[in-house]
Amino acid sequence: MDTPPTPDQSADDIISDLGAHFDEHNLYYQTVSSVLEAADLLGVPHQLKLILTQPKNEIMMHCPVKMDDGTWQLFKGYRVQHNNVLGPYKGGIRYHHNVKLDEVKTLALLMTMKCALARLPFGGAKGALKFDPRAVSPAELERVTRRLTAALGSNIGPDYDIPAPDVGTNAQTMAWMADTYINFAESSRKVAASSIVTGKPLQFGGSAGREKATGQGLVYVLDALLPGMNLDLPKLSYSLIGFGNVGSWTARLLQARGAKLRAVMDHTGAIFSSAGINATNLAEHVRKTGGIKDFAEAEAIDEGTFYSTPVDLFIPAALEQMVDLDNAKKIQCKVLVEAANAPTTPRAEKHLLSKGVEVLPAILCNAGGVTVSYFEWKQNRQAETWDEFLVDQRLQKVMQESAERVLQTADRLQCSMRSASYAAAIDHINQVYSVRGVFP
Ligand code: GLU
Repeated sequence: MDTPPTPDQSADDIISDLGAHFDEHNLYYQTVSSVLEAADLLGVPHQLKLILTQPKNEIMMHCPVKMDDGTWQLFKGYRVQHNNVLGPYKGGIRYHHNVKLDEVKTLALLMTMKCALARLPFGGAKGALKFDPRAVSPAELERVTRRLTAALGSNIGPDYDIPAPDVGTNAQTMAWMADTYINFAESSRKVAASSIVTGKPLQFGGSAGREKATGQGLVYVLDALLPGMNLDLPKLSYSLIGFGNVGSWTARLLQARGAKLRAVMDHTGAIFSSAGINATNLAEHVRKTGGIKDFAEAEAIDEGTFYSTPVDLFIPAALEQMVDLDNAKKIQCKVLVEAANAPTTPRAEKHLLSKGVEVLPAILCNAGGVTVSYFEWKQNRQAETWDEFLVDQRLQKVMQESAERVLQTADRLQCSMRSASYAAAIDHINQVYSVRGVFP
């Protein structure tokens, strides 16, 4: 970008210039503000800040689906495509009854940052369908998924926008999406069409190591960063919010490293054990019952006790904004490791940093999922199959280099790990815009 920089504008100035109202409690504006602050640390051109402030496309759909009892329901869907300067839009599809457009916009922006930080050749997107997947039958879930895929139509594509699993979706969801998309593809494009989504089942073009990838990536980030904080993983205790894909894999992989799981909370309750909770047994209990409640090997505790339990690492692996200021005041840990996207509010983060807690940002800690998604997409396109050893080895390299990039940027700009992670991402995006230019 060769136009001269204009005087720095604050996030709220930029947002009001775009005709929107700045609201400090709104997750999207909170996230954009942090991103723009990081952009200011680098002194990037004004037009880059404008580009990053809003997504390129916001697609909204309404999908009519016939339920098992013969009644009809209308499902509201979103796909937000934030930026594609680095490559095709990339990001998960979430099924959740409480999802809102601003949340999907936030998650799409974070995907742009995440892919840029890890230097993946992808932009950022996110999708969602507003309903509770636990409240419908498997047959209804399949019809909803196929209808959503048809509704997305040419707004997605293996060279254009590649969805993946997120909260409430999994490999089966991706298999239905891919199958539907392939059915619409021309016969000469059917093989290429199978890389329309990542996170597919192994038998249908999925990658070894994809299911555990977010948890595995988080463990590699801890391997890279904890020694510098004088912390030794096998000697550490931790607590966890969420025991879905990310939480349960994180717990099983940390157990293999000797770390002790003291407390867990999910949508069904909270549990504690001073001796340590066996993550493999808990994963089995959750598979059978749908939640951590009534796990016989731990005692039930209330939410306040969960947050106040002293641990070395506190790992939120569920939804956004669960660690607010009230909860942050209760938390007693050395490091907060963001496994979920945007789990910490800015006020909570400020409080934690002021009491000496290090906060490791989500776009670094949970980038393992999209990194192995990239490996899956690459394998599909090159008709290759990598084994788990190779996937893990390549994942470790990406995670370690990303962690080092964040550390070096924090040191260079004298800023928090969150600002450094955004700055390291924006720096790369800025360099790509400066060689590509902004059309026309
Ligand atoms: N939903 C995951 C995330 O938030 C993975 C996205 C992907 O693999 O494209 O990072």
